[in-house]
Amino acid sequence: MAAITIRELTKVYPGGVRALDALDLDVADGEFFALLGPSGCGKTTLLRTLAGLETATGGTIVLGDRDVTRLQPGRRDVGMVFQDYALFPHMTVLDNIAYPLRIKKQSRAVRYRHAAEAIKELGLQGMERRRPGELSGGQQQRVALARAVVANPGIFLLDEPLSNLDARLRLEARTFLKEFQHRLGVTTVFVTHDQAEALALADRIAVMEAGRVRQIGSPAEVFRRPANLFVASFIGSTPMNLLPGTIQGGSVAVCGVGLPIPDEARAQVRDGQEVVCGVRPEYMEFSTEPVDGAIGGRVSVVENLGGSSLVTLDVDGESVRVVVGEGFETQFHAEGWASPRTGRVLLYHDGELVTGGDGAGRPASLAKDGGRG
Ligand code: ATP
Repeated sequence: MAAITIRELTKVYPGGVRALDALDLDVADGEFFALLGPSGCGKTTLLRTLAGLETATGGTIVLGDRDVTRLQPGRRDVGMVFQDYALFPHMTVLDNIAYPLRIKKQSRAVRYRHAAEAIKELGLQGMERRRPGELSGGQQQRVALARAVVANPGIFLLDEPLSNLDARLRLEARTFLKEFQHRLGVTTVFVTHDQAEALALADRIAVMEAGRVRQIGSPAEVFRRPANLFVASFIGSTPMNLLPGTIQGGSVAVCGVGLPIPDEARAQVRDGQEVVCGVRPEYMEFSTEPVDGAIGGRVSVVENLGGSSLVTLDVDGESVRVVVGEGFETQFHAEGWASPRTGRVLLYHDGELVTGGDGAGRPASLAKDGGRG
């Protein structure tokens, strides 16, 4: 097992695309770590550069205490599971799983003993003689994982591990993968563009944009306290309310009401300053009766989320969304009031979260260590 230390990692493809831009990242030993971001942000490039399938243009990658930046993939001690699982269609499950040991020229007895252990570990007993085409997507994923496991690598790299599965199977496989990773305790980095998947699986998440990391944190941190407007708008199944506001006499004027300035931001803002006020729909209360200090508007949309509803209020052309619990009934165009729960308002200035920070107005969440803690 090994920690990962990445410094100033840059990848420029022939043709000039800068897929990774002086990226710094630390993954702790045994951590389940997600690389999350929109299409083209460089997640796959980062994973492939870690594996040695792409050559870094600049910077360093240290796995454990070894600088592997210039090492061949086979000498890095990483196991990669590809998005399409890359199983050999003509080989049985057993031979697919034993394959890495064949490459390492292990004896037949050793190969099959380790493969049998991995088969048991991944619940694939009884399928040893089948070929990949005779397995479900979830089973194929397990074979690919088993194949990575037999090589006993210090690090697992998983490229969109659940994207080939249908929605229901994906949930099952997600639970399995999380439990499996914790049991093995092997440092694991996985790529996903699905924020819900990253939140559900990862110990920590790096949210990427254009070859850089915009925030690193636990799922709770990136959900509750996005460090900037990019992360704020990317994370969350229901989009965060991002409302223009102005600092005015000790509060922030938003949609015609004055909301309290968060304590941590108090010393960082001045009267007249334009800010963006961020509140998740989950952190708002809804009322059909007027409430002091609440944002009032008219219901323009109600979306059923299953156990709750997402109500959109039109407030003089501005949309304010609120998640409302079960059993809620409202009429289109009825009046409604939304108030943020205490302590749940975030202020953004120049795109960055306004916090007490390090005294230089720089958010603590963006401090040099990449935002841990
Ligand atoms: P996706 O979620 O769509 O897979 P991603 O975040 O994994 O996206 P990458 O595949 O790492 O993104 O691509 C990052 C950037 O590098 C993109 O602009 C992409 O077009 C470019 N790119 C990727 N591979 C190559 C290549 N082999 N040659 C040139 N440019 C490339």
